[in-house]
Amino acid sequence: MPDVTKIQAQLQTQVRIVLVDTSHAGNIGATARAMKNMGLARLYLVKPKQFPHADATARASGADDVLAQATVCATLDEALVDCSLVMGASARLRNLPVPLLGPRQCAAKVLGEVTTLGIECALVFGREHSGLTNDELGRCHYLVNIPTNPEYSSLNLAAAVQVLGYELRMATLDVQTEAILDENAGQLASADDMERFYVHLQQTLEITGFLDPKNPRIMMQRLRRLFNRARPSEVEMNILRGILTSAQRHTHQPD
Ligand code: SAH
Repeated sequence: MPDVTKIQAQLQTQVRIVLVDTSHAGNIGATARAMKNMGLARLYLVKPKQFPHADATARASGADDVLAQATVCATLDEALVDCSLVMGASARLRNLPVPLLGPRQCAAKVLGEVTTLGIECALVFGREHSGLTNDELGRCHYLVNIPTNPEYSSLNLAAAVQVLGYELRMATLDVQTEAILDENAGQLASADDMERFYVHLQQTLEITGFLDPKNPRIMMQRLRRLFNRARPSEVEMNILRGILTSAQRHTHQPD
């Protein structure tokens, strides 16, 4: 089973959040908080107007370790050193030759490349008033847009970081869920088990009088849909077969 703790550690070291030209120190603090909540740790600040600043520390609210370790850079290029995957978060859908992703697709891509290719990745966020310039977006491999109300599309900077961070965390947890499902798949009842069950079920329902032996088709189809949706395990199948056997045993059968 994939080790989720290991994946989370990889995200912590290989994913960086880059804020470009942030005006309000409070947003830097709120971003640090959002990052720590979502298990991210590496914050890069390109030309912040005010940093360090009391407003940043106040809004970080306990995530000051993320602030303390933040790297301040003079240019975006400097903040992107060593990154082989660069995602640019944009509130506006622009006419640029950069492929566009949704937050969930972005998370899947980042998680996939960080864990399988071992690369470093940057999620880049723009200025509060004007977002990222076309030149800055030109440095990104993908644009990421959070689908918001088109009449009021721009999220607060830290809220945008929160959403992308949350999707990344959810994608990590999904890896674990899928692995558990895969593990259990070996114990699921097979198609031939299911067919034997349906024969047994039909036979029992005819004996109890629930099913009209002359016209069993529709009801059996509905029951198939129900049990197929449940995807019973072998153990559950044994229980169901046991119930049918006991029902047959206790049903008065006409001679
Ligand atoms: N007024 C700016 C928005 C700035 S919000 C503009 O129109 O571009 C600050 C940053 O938060 C944006 O640059 C972007 O990186 C991120 N952001 C805000 N809303 C977003 C959204 N809906 N989708 C993706 N990123 C968003």
